[in-house]
Amino acid sequence: MPGGHAQTLRPFMWRAERLYPDTEIVSRTHEGRTRHTYAEYADRTARLANALDAHGIERGDRVATFCWNNTRHFETYFGVPNTGAQLHTINPLLPDEHIQYIVDDADDEIIFVDPSLAEKIAGAAEGAEEFEGVDFVAMGSEGIDALDAPAYEEFIADHSTEYDWPDLDGDQPAGLCYTSGTTGKPKGVEYTQSMLWSHTMASQTPQGIPMEDSDVVMPVVPMFHVNAWGMPFTATAAGAKHVYPGPSPDPADLAALIEEEGVTVSAGVPTVWLGLREYIEEGNEVDLSTLDTVIIGGAAAPKALVEWYDERDVEVLHAWGMTELSPIGTVSHLKDDLRDADYETQVNKRSKQGLVAPGLEFEVIDEDGEEIPWDGEAFGELRIRGPWVTKEYFKRPEANEEEFVDGWLKTGDVVTVDEDGYMQLVDRTKDVIKSGGEWISSVELENAIMAYDGVSEAAVVGVPHERWQERPVAFVVVAEGVDREELVDRIESGLREEYPKWWLPDAVEFIDEVPKTATGKFSKKDLREQYGDQSLVEGAVPEDDAPDAE
Ligand code: ADP
Repeated sequence: MPGGHAQTLRPFMWRAERLYPDTEIVSRTHEGRTRHTYAEYADRTARLANALDAHGIERGDRVATFCWNNTRHFETYFGVPNTGAQLHTINPLLPDEHIQYIVDDADDEIIFVDPSLAEKIAGAAEGAEEFEGVDFVAMGSEGIDALDAPAYEEFIADHSTEYDWPDLDGDQPAGLCYTSGTTGKPKGVEYTQSMLWSHTMASQTPQGIPMEDSDVVMPVVPMFHVNAWGMPFTATAAGAKHVYPGPSPDPADLAALIEEEGVTVSAGVPTVWLGLREYIEEGNEVDLSTLDTVIIGGAAAPKALVEWYDERDVEVLHAWGMTELSPIGTVSHLKDDLRDADYETQVNKRSKQGLVAPGLEFEVIDEDGEEIPWDGEAFGELRIRGPWVTKEYFKRPEANEEEFVDGWLKTGDVVTVDEDGYMQLVDRTKDVIKSGGEWISSVELENAIMAYDGVSEAAVVGVPHERWQERPVAFVVVAEGVDREELVDRIESGLREEYPKWWLPDAVEFIDEVPKTATGKFSKKDLREQYGDQSLVEGAVPEDDAPDAE
């Protein structure tokens, strides 16, 4: 039977090349801003595929990247999986031991390395047997001697711009990404061709993160993490223009790209959009008039941030997802029957993590094993399933047993669902604070505190307590020049009005920065370790001696 019927990535690239040959792919790089058309992109991608073949890469082999967001990285997004090989994006912010573990676990044949990350990977590879037999290619026009890596441009140069892209099965592994694992070893999540296809198609629905051929799409979310939320695939499916922000873009770089390239859709973690807000509030003029939509996810988008962008006519779509979900699970679109509601109601809904994406199903199970009512109050652990949700971890049968039940993925996220179906994340099962036998949502307190003027970041963690099992402590990062005493007064009196007394943090501590994980989330584990001074709270017991210490 002739092939080509499976759900694979190939048609997305084919369509963009044929329908939009002149649409651009722009990238900020070490070598300045680059511009290619889809036609050129298709040629270069074919040359990459031929070069991989010549290098001996076969169907099912793993090809890794260690790169920022740029056009060459994007060439691997179709160039690798469309040949039947598997693209493994490595997070360069991980500690060396994790990188060694991942390269070994994935059995990578070749790694494409950004020049600015050469030292990092050379350090991880030095003397590490995990890297034996791994070849490197430098993502630029110059090689890297220390890695014996030829330049990418040289690697692909002599190859044909024609490639006979094979018919693949939907089950063919196409991608691989490791979750950063706040505890223990990272776990690999494999994306098949059909998972990426269905994630792209669902993203393209009006209830996903839809894009059009008139859009200019800038994923700030890293391409090394869950395929930049699938945006490079979705933008290609749409025939949109791509803009890649390159190595460590700061707010000024993002502002320049938005203005000069006319970005209409962008996406990233809250810190990115808080950073741009701060930059503008410092008095820098930035023209946001082209920007229609900003997708914020990976961590909770504070309501104040949603409102700030609203005031500038930029719609924030708050989205929730996970590596295990390729990653999109929910998006905070406003339901039609809420369009007549007052702004406050609307913004409260839109600040929640949102409505489940079409194609997925979920259930929320409380401590007694019962499904919670959708009343916005009851909470439990979210379980989810669907075509782009993984069913297992890569080579980790023991993790499968813990994290999957009856075909559902146990997300580890504690959520409420309101009568309109909006899911709101109230905690991670690991971070929930249990005080006097009752749950306190650390996330809700954090969001409440972050809404105060002068607060840049806030994280709330539970400190083991003799009498109450645990008590909340808030760690706050303030903007420059803020009167701290006055701020604490404001926070304490404000929270007292909003929350029951036993929810109020026993202490508010000022720190310079909330420690972050390799994917930009608050690392409460590091926070506990760095600021574990139990004397902050009366009656606290050292964490090691706490009755339920892990
Ligand atoms: P990603 O960072 O791409 O979402 P990870 O797999 O690294 O993927 O992390 C997934 C976890 O991040 C979720 O289980 C959830 O705890 C948290 N998370 C993701 N999106 C949000 C969000 N919008 N609000 C709050 N937490 C979020």
